Amino acid sequence: MIIKLKSDVDLKKAESLAEAHRAIVLKNPSNLHLITSGSIKTLPVDVEPVTESYFTADSDIQLASRAYDHTTRAITVNGITLGGDTQNQVTIAGPCSVESKEQMEQVAKFLTSQNVKFLRAGCFKPRTSPYTFQGLGQAGIRILSEIREQYGFSIVTEVKDASHVALVIEHADMIQIGTKAMYDHQILKMCGKTEKPILLKRGFGSTLQEFVQAAEFILSSGNPNVILCERGIRTFESKTRFTLDLCGVAYLKEYINLPVIVDPSHAMGYSYGVPGLARAATAMGVEGLLIETHPEPDKAKSDASQQLDFDSFEKLMKELKPIAEAVGKTIV
Ligand code: PEP
Ligand code: MN
Repeated sequence: MIIKLKSDVDLKKAESLAEAHRAIVLKNPSNLHLITSGSIKTLPVDVEPVTESYFTADSDIQLASRAYDHTTRAITVNGITLGGDTQNQVTIAGPCSVESKEQMEQVAKFLTSQNVKFLRAGCFKPRTSPYTFQGLGQAGIRILSEIREQYGFSIVTEVKDASHVALVIEHADMIQIGTKAMYDHQILKMCGKTEKPILLKRGFGSTLQEFVQAAEFILSSGNPNVILCERGIRTFESKTRFTLDLCGVAYLKEYINLPVIVDPSHAMGYSYGVPGLARAATAMGVEGLLIETHPEPDKAKSDASQQLDFDSFEKLMKELKPIAEAVGKTIV
């Protein structure tokens, strides 16, 4: 249950009620709110006198549900809005990892020519093997900051564990929580304490309920700016890296008020399939795509098989434009 308290209720009173009812106090909106488990369906008698209005949910998907707030949230990053009353489909692109300044210069020049405004590359890489490239860490963040200064991109980069969340929040315009970190509550809560937009990727083994509940951790900690990213789930299939869950995208668009973006690169795992999935996701009218591209994919230090070379990326962007237009979207 989400309880909107009367405007004259102070934090002390809200906190004492929260303690009595095992609720979270949401301080972000103008009025204080109490959020209890979704299983609570009747307003507690001691809360009733200080309640302005309340909402009962079907489950613990509460703040993110369209039943609570019908309109897709507007999330604005350096003047570009995802969701809200816009029909924007944003492109978030870049290599899997920051490898060197020179590589990022090449990417930045290319993406500038493609009118891409969000540059994404990882510095703290959550690799499956300890023997592979783990990312440049803080040195990578410095490179991204320089690129941001020089080229004016909005920078998206990921957090792998809680030790560097503060550093990434300081330097990035959007913080990516990867598939393996989706269940890391410390990361989720730390990302709930900033207002910077969070790009939350679906855990590859998580249900849609678990995915949106991970977003609820961020939202209920006070950050209303969460973007969901479908990036493929694990199924019995082994010919592709993961299986892109477009049914899940349809569910999220219908029932959830957060912008949804699709990452065909990690879902497919092979560059040959990325354009087709990107076209399909665009036809669904998503708020954005996340696509990996690298100047020399064969030489990439991570995710080499799935990154598009620049020619393929350019071709894809041309193909997506009329598809986006056909579903009333504009690629930005
Ligand atoms: C990535 O975006 O490079 C990445 C590691 O993604 P995921 O967490 O979805 O595997
Ligand atoms: Mn990657």
